[in-house]
Amino acid sequence: MNTDTFGLSQPDGLPDERWLQELANKFFTSPPVPMGAVEGIPASVAGSGISPSAVHQGNSVDLEDPMTSLPDPHFAGAGHVPASVAGSGRSPSADQMAGSVGSEAFSGVQRPTEQWPFSTDAAFYFISEKNAFVRSQPALPTHAALPAAPYDVNLVRKDFPILQQYVNGRPLVWLDNAATTQKPQPVIDRISHYYEQENSNIHRAAHELAARSTDAFEGARDKVRHFLNASSSNEIVFVRGATEAINLVAKSWGEQFLQSGDEIIVSHLEHHANIVPWQQLAGAKGLKLKVIPVDDEGQVLLDAYSRLLGPRTKLVSFTQVSNALGTITPASKIVEMAHAVGAKALVDGAQAVSHMPVDVRALDADWYVFSGHKVFGPTGIGVLYGKEDLLNETAPWQGGGNMIKDVTFEHTTYQQAPARFEAGTGNIADAIGLGAAIDYVTRIGMDLISQYEHYLLQYATRLLTDIPGLRLIGTAPDKAGVLSFVLDGYRTEEVGAALNQSGIAVRSGHHCAQPILRRFGVESSVRPSLALYNTCGDIDALIAVLHRLRTTRPRL
Ligand code: PLP
Repeated sequence: MNTDTFGLSQPDGLPDERWLQELANKFFTSPPVPMGAVEGIPASVAGSGISPSAVHQGNSVDLEDPMTSLPDPHFAGAGHVPASVAGSGRSPSADQMAGSVGSEAFSGVQRPTEQWPFSTDAAFYFISEKNAFVRSQPALPTHAALPAAPYDVNLVRKDFPILQQYVNGRPLVWLDNAATTQKPQPVIDRISHYYEQENSNIHRAAHELAARSTDAFEGARDKVRHFLNASSSNEIVFVRGATEAINLVAKSWGEQFLQSGDEIIVSHLEHHANIVPWQQLAGAKGLKLKVIPVDDEGQVLLDAYSRLLGPRTKLVSFTQVSNALGTITPASKIVEMAHAVGAKALVDGAQAVSHMPVDVRALDADWYVFSGHKVFGPTGIGVLYGKEDLLNETAPWQGGGNMIKDVTFEHTTYQQAPARFEAGTGNIADAIGLGAAIDYVTRIGMDLISQYEHYLLQYATRLLTDIPGLRLIGTAPDKAGVLSFVLDGYRTEEVGAALNQSGIAVRSGHHCAQPILRRFGVESSVRPSLALYNTCGDIDALIAVLHRLRTTRPRL
């Protein structure tokens, strides 16, 4: 029996079909939507998030049969998700919003609690007399026999107002999560509350609002500490994002500690943000940049990596999840091997934090970086985690207010971390918003999020693989959230534009990761990417458009 990163294991001998069906059962937490009860809303969107085709066909989806992917007539009517589908009617935000936020009691709006109003044995919209194919499939256990609801994607979706809109006449399907994630209501409300009730500069003023905003800002730092399992909130530096965090390390620690002839290792998977700062430093100081190669599936080659390591290696800087391919790297192992030769290790967690639990102490990373906007928080805020001693022995990179202990015209002494790296007035409101985003995902549970997304990824991979002429770029067994592909006969921007016409947002281009795309012989790819609010219905909608493209312009 193989157990993967997500703790889900396909028992030996259990056919793929049956395994996917069991996974569907695991996440199938809401009563399916009966036809007519919620007019025009497909079960995949309005029900559990498990598509009708997944549940009722054991995933043996026949894309040639229009009834087995998401038919447009149903999808066209889907405007909003019913307020409550899972019984409790409480969205993940309800408790959070009703609670105390920040230093003052925050009376957020309590969501209405509505009970599931429909009988669950009614006919489903996709089971009809004319759809004999579906009717002939073996029935799954009844809903009553399923385990208690661990995750209800529609309650989650209710929390994201932006997802309730139409784009180009279709309900928005947001599959551009690797670029940025949407914001739940508690994050939006928390930022408004800050500006309505707390706005003040922090740390220095002797008045009530300064105390409130300082408490809220430092409270957010502590939330990040818990989120990453850091030892101390002194290890959490607020920055603009992952890019700024990496630049900070390059321009402070790198500038101070690296010398000509030293070597830095990155992997072939890196985002430009984890290449360019090291290249700049290498150019300025005469350092050597080495690259860990990947295999044809997009997995880093540990043997090759071990041969790159040596006494001159001073830093290994690599991503935990590839933004272009989705590969999850063996981060603990890479860090351990770096430490074995006395090198430091920086882990780029920009694509990891929204998909899986992160534990910087277990990773033993010297630095860990991420951006708030990729984990349902605001733009313009991010985090550099660094081991406390390491931060304190590193000279600041920017000078100004907040980072000093004492200033004369002759000499300045600096604060300890984190203040020494936070010169000037920071992005106070968005740090607090990031704290609310962390509360939000923590309330749901990162383990559960990662399991649910893993199911979605398997579902999507299966359907994409079945499309003739479609080539997936990045097929590592350990992946998170990203499905990069090219389609024969189409430029990637044409595919992106066609999807946009159907209200489906994906990225097409080089994803700021040109080296790894070139490794796979392409300059650009189409990149749908997943998050906790996506459903199998979203994937069905994507697949339906791709299938239509394939049939309208067959392989050239
Ligand atoms: N690293 C990875 C793996 C990324 O995917 C990204 C953004 O896509 C970054 C770094 C840079 O993040 P930001 O632009 O938020 O600084």
